[in-house]
Amino acid sequence: MPRPGVIVWEALRNVFSKKATIDYPFEEGVKPLVGLRGAHILYIDLCTGCRACQRACPPLAIEMVPSDLTKTGKRPVINLGQCIFCGLCEDACRYDALFLTDYIELSAFQQKEMIIYENEPPKGTKTSEGEEKPKEEDS
Ligand code: SF4
Ligand code: SF4
Repeated sequence: MPRPGVIVWEALRNVFSKKATIDYPFEEGVKPLVGLRGAHILYIDLCTGCRACQRACPPLAIEMVPSDLTKTGKRPVINLGQCIFCGLCEDACRYDALFLTDYIELSAFQQKEMIIYENEPPKGTKTSEGEEKPKEEDS
């Protein structure tokens, strides 16, 4: 058992030392780890609606819905609430239309808020949410 003096010293040292935590989400500073898999980005202009991503998805988190923008008339809608962020959909997409980004702030109050790309993007948009293409990782 540590002596009381040691405990007091330790407590005082912690009070005056630099904080080890941050006041998230009010304070910036949380950086995703390199290679971390977060929400998807869909490049609708590259998507053919081939369904390869849907077939590759183990927890059936991808549903194909009608679309005027793809060759087959279908496009993926992704339920992040079901997704296990395995990245198999990205690997399966031979048209480079679907990527996982490092965006991880995914909490929501309702399940339906976890469904992305539900609405048809306007014609001519590069992605359905106007985001930037994720940077290629150094190999
Ligand atoms: S995102 Fe890729 S794999 Fe999925 S339907 Fe579109 S082209 Fe096919
Ligand atoms: S990351 Fe995995 S679980 Fe999530 S949508 Fe893609 S294939 Fe499905």
